[in-house]
This record gives sequence, C-alpha cells and structure tokens, in this order.
Amino acid sequence: MVTGLQSPIQVPNNGTVSVPIATAPVINQGTQVTSIAELASTGQNFEMKVSDLTQSPGTVAFEGITYSLDQLHVHNPSENTLDGRHFPIEMHLVHKRSDSEVLVLAIFFDNGPFNPEFDKVLNAFQKEGTEITIDVNKMLGAGTSRAQLLTFEGSLTTPPFTTGLQWVVSKEIAKVSPEQIARYQNTPQVVTPNNRPVQDLQNRTVTAYF
Ligand SMILES: [Zn+2]
Repeated sequence: MVTGLQSPIQVPNNGTVSVPIATAPVINQGTQVTSIAELASTGQNFEMKVSDLTQSPGTVAFEGITYSLDQLHVHNPSENTLDGRHFPIEMHLVHKRSDSEVLVLAIFFDNGPFNPEFDKVLNAFQKEGTEITIDVNKMLGAGTSRAQLLTFEGSLTTPPFTTGLQWVVSKEIAKVSPEQIARYQNTPQVVTPNNRPVQDLQNRTVTAYF
C-alpha cells in the first residue's frame, strides 16, 4: 500500500496558491557536467550519474537548502501533466543535499528542432559506462525563469515511491526533435512508455510565484 503525497500529478498551470517570487527556487545548472550512464534500478531506464559533484554540477537553492545535481533521466511520455497535457519527454534532474533531502527539477520537452545537448544524453544511453560532458543550460533551451516555476511536495515515481521529496516543475518547455524521441524509445533496454500514471492531488499545495 503506497501512502502519502505521491507523484506524478496533474500540475495546475497557475498553482493552488501564489506567493512572491523572492521565495522561488534559484536554479543554477552550471555549465559542464561530466556524467556516466547507468541502468536505473528498475532495469527499464537509464540514468546519468554526476561523476564529480565538485565539478560545477549545478544546484537548486530552495527554502534555505542548496541541493546538488546527482543524476538525470528521462521519461516518455511525461509523468506530470501541465493543465492536463502530457508532453513527449519529461526530464528529471534529481538533486540532493543528503539521501533524505531530495529535490527533483522536472523539465518538459515538446516536439521541435534537433537538440544537440540532448543528443549527447541519448548517446550516453546507448552504452552503460559512457562518459559525456553536457551543458545543462543549453539542453534546457528556453532556460528556467523563476517566474515560470511551480513547486509542490511529492514522491519518487518508481519503487519504493519514497515521499517527502521537493518537486519543481518549469512551465518553460524545452524542445527535442521527433527523431530524438524515437531514438530514446528505441534505446536497448529502455522500455517505453515508462511514465507512472498521475496520482491523487489530495488537496496538496502547488505554489506559483509572482
Ligand atoms: Zn523520473
């Protein structure tokens, strides 16, 4: 029996409450991240571990805690929805300060032009142990302006569905080409669709910023 505030959810575009932007997360993804692709524990997806946390790994600061990028992975289709809409890809940038202090920055990707930085991630997914250097800011394209963020409490979307995670969703949508989406779907050992269905909102607070 899975209990507590679970993820993913149907994220309301304007949140359920709106607070001043001074309290919004501050996202600094650094520029270069050296990572290694590893099969995630489910055996159905790849994740990229940051191999050197001291090497400008990217951070998110929120409510007095600075979380460092630990790993990233993608889902097809998106797990969360924005105003009821799924996107072809949702990237999860999993940040940590400790094993019990976890923040997931979720970025949606829609159909668009070829994304060179996303392609490096796809290359790494072809073979476990591949090491690459990516520019996370470039991959996100539009970037992540603080006014476009929504925050809420949720859980891991894979077993053991641990609760108490901080989620940050950006309303700015990045782009990948349809060919890149197909390439991810055809990656050996990746099983798609690999999105957990949306879970009950349960009166949870989704905070927007103005
Ligand atoms: Zn995920």
